[in-house]
This record gives sequence, C-alpha cells and structure tokens, in this order.
Amino acid sequence: MERKILKSGEFLVSNVEPKDVFIPEDFNEEQRMIAQSCRDFLEAEVYPRMADLEKCDRVLMKQILKKSGELGLMGISVPEEFGGFGQSFVTQMLVAETTGAGFSFSVAFMAHCGIGTLPILYYGSREQRERYVPRLATGELLGAYCLTEPGAGSDANSGKTNAKLSEDGNHYILNGQKMWITNAGFADTQVVFAKIDNDRVLSAFIVESSMPGVVIGPDEHKMGIKGSSTAQIYYNDVKVPVENLLGKRGEGFRIALSILHMGRIKLGANVLGAAKKAVTDSVRYANERKQFGMLISAFGAIKHKLASQVVKLFATESAVYRVSKDIDDLIVNLKKDCGDTGRATIEAISHYAVEAAILKVFGSEMLDFIADEAVQIHGGMGYSAEMDVERCYRDSRINRIFEGTNEINRLLVVDTAMKRAMKGDFDLFGKAEALYNDVDNITGGKVRGESYFAEKARYVDNFKQTILLCIHGAVKTFGKGLMNEQEVLNNIADMMMETYVSESLLLRIARLESMKEDISVYRDMLDVYIYDSAETVRKSAFDAIYSFADEDKAALLIKAADDLTRVKGINVKFARRRIADKLIEDNSYKF
Ligand SMILES: Cc1cc2nc3c(=O)[nH]c(=O)nc-3n(C[C@H](O)[C@H](O)[C@H](O)COP(=O)(O)OP(=O)(O)OC[C@H]3O[C@@H](n4cnc5c(N)ncnc54)[C@H](O)[C@@H]3O)c2cc1C
Repeated sequence: MERKILKSGEFLVSNVEPKDVFIPEDFNEEQRMIAQSCRDFLEAEVYPRMADLEKCDRVLMKQILKKSGELGLMGISVPEEFGGFGQSFVTQMLVAETTGAGFSFSVAFMAHCGIGTLPILYYGSREQRERYVPRLATGELLGAYCLTEPGAGSDANSGKTNAKLSEDGNHYILNGQKMWITNAGFADTQVVFAKIDNDRVLSAFIVESSMPGVVIGPDEHKMGIKGSSTAQIYYNDVKVPVENLLGKRGEGFRIALSILHMGRIKLGANVLGAAKKAVTDSVRYANERKQFGMLISAFGAIKHKLASQVVKLFATESAVYRVSKDIDDLIVNLKKDCGDTGRATIEAISHYAVEAAILKVFGSEMLDFIADEAVQIHGGMGYSAEMDVERCYRDSRINRIFEGTNEINRLLVVDTAMKRAMKGDFDLFGKAEALYNDVDNITGGKVRGESYFAEKARYVDNFKQTILLCIHGAVKTFGKGLMNEQEVLNNIADMMMETYVSESLLLRIARLESMKEDISVYRDMLDVYIYDSAETVRKSAFDAIYSFADEDKAALLIKAADDLTRVKGINVKFARRRIADKLIEDNSYKF
C-alpha cells in the first residue's frame, strides 16, 4: 500500500495516518544485527580505553577509528560501487544512534563518516570519488571538514580563507586559517571552504594534510569530548591541484549548508544512543544505591526523573525514525530522475531541512536534560569523574553548539518552513489567515465519545492551529521584518518542535496498538508527553501573542490559544510511576 509522505514542514497543515509512519519497531533483522555490531565494537574497543582517550591521545583515537573502518562500520553510508555497503538512510541513522553511546569516539567517527567523507561522495566528480571515497570508507584515510574560522562561525560565509589560481593554471594557492576542526590532529583529507579571488561566496576544495604549507595546531583544551582531536589548521601558500576543486566555483556555500543539514539530522540520531546509555546508567545506579534503608529507585522523586527521561527519549526517537524513512523514500524517487545515489541522498536530506533542524535542537536539548538528571540521580557520585554520567554531562553540551548553534537552528525551523510554503509546497498562509479571521469561533472542539487516539490527535491538531494563529498574527504585525523578531521566531520554533514530536509519538503509539498485546505503559507516555507539551505550546503562544498583538487582538488570540492548548487532566504521578516501574524492572532502557 502507498504511504502518504509529507513535504518538509507540511506537518503544520496536513496529517498522516499511523500506517504511514516508520517506527523503530519496524527495524528488520539485518538492521538489528548492524546495530549490535556497533554496540559490540563500543564494548570491545572504546569503553575499555575511555580513560586513555580522555587524555586526548590522538594516536589511540586514530587506531580505534581505523579498527572501526577495518570492521566495516565506516562504509554504511557509502554505495557499494565506492567500496561501502550502500545501506538505507534509516540504517545510517541507526548506526549514528548506536555509535552515539561512544562518547568522544562517536564525535570523531561521525565527523569522519559524515562531514569528512560525504561531501566528496555527494558532490565529487567521478575521479574525486574514485580517488578518495573507497579509502575513506575503509578508514585507510581519515577525513575532516573545515568551515569555521576565528571570524566566521555562525556566519559561515564570512570566512577569509582565500584561494588564487596559480599563474600556470594548475593549482589554487590556499591561504588562511580554520579553527575548531574535529579530527584535525590525524585527518589525511580535509574538505576546506575558501573564497576564490574576491568571490562573494565560498568554494570547496579537497586538501590533503600532507600538502606542503598545511600546519596543524595543538589540540584545544575542551570541557568535554576530550578524546576527540579539535585543533586549528593553517594554510600557508598550499598548492591545491585544480582538479581538487569540489563542485563548481562558488558552489561551496551550498555544499556547506547541505552537509550541515545532513550533520544535523544525524546528530538527532546520535544523541539517542548517548541518551539510552545515560538512562540505563541512571536506573542501574538507582537499583543499587540504598538510602533510608531503601533503594533510591523506590522513591517517587527518583521515579519521576526516570520516567521523564524515558518519555523525552522515546518521543524524540519516534520523530527521528519517522523522518528518516521519509528521506529514504524521497531518495528512491530522486534517484529515478538523476540516477546518482549520492546526489539523490543529499537532495533528499536537504529537502527535509525543517525536520533536520527540529531534530538537532530537540535532540540535543533532550540529551542535556537526560544527562543532567542522570548526574542528579547519582547524587555525589554523579559528580565523580569515575562515572560515565559525569562524562556524558560534559560531552553532551557540545551538541547544542556545533552543526549550527541551537539559536541558528531555531531560526531555521521557522524560516525554512515559511519559505517552503511561499514556494508553494503547502498552503500555510491561506489556512493561517482563514483561521485567524475566524478566531472568535475557535473552541478546541471537544467531541463527544471520541476514541483515545482521536482525542490525542485532536490535541495535536489544536497545537497546529495555535501555531498557524501565531504565524499569521506575527506576519501581519511585522511583515518582512518578522525575521528580525527572533524572540517571536523562537516561540514559534518551540511550538513547532513540540508539535512535530508529539505527533510522531502519537503515530508511533497508535501503530504499536496493533503490534503489542499491552500498550498501557506507552499510553502513559503519550498522556504525560501531550500533557507537558500543551503547557509548552501554550506558554510559547502566549509569549508570542503578547509580543505582536495590540491589547484587543491579544485578548481574542489568548483566549483561542488557551482553548486550543487545553487538554484533559491525567494522573501524572501514577502514569510516571508506571513508566518508571517498567524501567526499574528491566534494569535498562528497553522500550
Ligand atoms: C568541539 C567542537 C568541534 C567543532 N568541529 C567543527 C568541525 O569539524 N568543522 C567546522 O567547520 N567547525 C567545527 N566547529 C565549529 C562550530 O560549528 C562553531 O563553533 C559553531 O558553528 C558556532 O560558531 P562560533 O563558535 O563562532 O559561535 P558564534 O557564531 O560567535 O556564536 C556565539 C553565540 O551567538 C549566537 N549567534 C550567532 N549568530 C546569531 C544570529 N544571527 N542570531 C542569533 N544568535 C546568533 C550563537 O547562537 C551563539 O550563542 C566545532 C566546534 C567545537 C566547539
């Protein structure tokens, strides 16, 4: 049966059925085995060496990376014709998730397999791909991605690194400086972004670290991910052969942005692995530690924390795999037109830019929440460098900063959705205007005798209506100037994220109903999640409305937002206790 697939951002105005979404429970045997191989690798090669890695041992990290390449883990995203295993996007995300439990190894591994390798696969010429990709896919070469400069971080196109064609026309002479480069200490290849002559936009180059004039700085002293090499790189009259220009002249900024979409969405999967480990560490500790003559896992306050960790994690996971499958299907369609897996993949990922930014922000903040509660559940031991949760707390923080800061990504969530709607991908503005003009009649629409799932779907639909009201109101007040009203954009982004994740959770649990005998604990999760989300959507809507509406209009809109975010009260204490009790009984995250 045909699946209904929404375009990026279209979830704001359209719905899909549970049967239309992919859920982690759909993983096949091969996917489960690949995930198990990644877990086995972490157990055998990474965890026993964690203390040495933490000393920023470049040689050791390089060895472990190479070993993961020899075992085939680096070739998952690379098509077979270039020496990889050509796995689906869902499988790539599952590998990103599983390796995400590997602390700084995970950062080094993901930088190599993602931003270090894939720009060449996606944008390289046949010769460039044949020359570099098979060796990157096995770990014979290790890769880095060099965009950030001292003066060019979030404003990535403002870099000063410069390339000039040599007099004989055979080389570009590269001069400049990059900073915060992951894997800099041992990478063999670098994808470097620089402006040719006085170009307005960047171009991209494949630079080999062995080229004369490439100088690698010492590693930065970092708060976390201490095992990953992060350093500055200097380019002093480096002669880069003209055939190493990646893509066309001036195409570098587009390449950089597309690769960031890919990095973001994979980060959304990556944080799931770290979060699952932190939840398991939390419950195991809570099941061992006794105070006041009892295991601390028996205390309601600890159960509340454990359940909150589970609910946020399970909900984020639902959103991650929902969009991953949408991307897979779009890759298949695009490949029919262009015949090239690499190009089709990056176009499909870039299409889902709204969801990529949502997963990046939501996932990184989910992990920070879970890591923080994991430390708290461990009490004083959570503050000890002997414990994995202490490392998790420090390591998780970077996820809100790299692959575009969460501030930049929040702006992108709204900006990209609005641009896609303006392009005609879906009718956002017409629906928003109609709703706004009818604001007096909005009630939130309680339906007599509606089923459990119909009621939850109505709540999610109401969240969407709240967003549309705010978008129309904000556009009406600020016009094109809305893009300068970042506080309001943040409010709208927060509502969009909560709504996408709530809906993904709802669709997953509705599907689970036909797959599992007893879904009561999953319904508890949905109850708790929607109850909490309603509060976030309501607060964000109120903040936005008071920021753009005059007093009379604000009163009407606030009443509508209030009605649209009203959900039935539930016994959150019991719901959370039941979720926690399953976790406590399983003694690890097994949802
Ligand atoms: C450990 C680590 C590894 C990294 N790895 C790599 C790598 O491999 N390759 C690479 O190229 N880069 C890498 N980076 C760089 C990273 O991507 C940048 O640090 C990030 O993009 C932010 O840039 P910045 O540090 O210059 O911060 P800034 O851009 O100076 O931002 C400072 C603050 O201002 C906010 N801000 C900036 N602009 C706006 C705006 N328009 N609106 C609202 N708020 C704004 C930011 O959100 C942030 O809170 C890495 C960084 C770290 C720390």
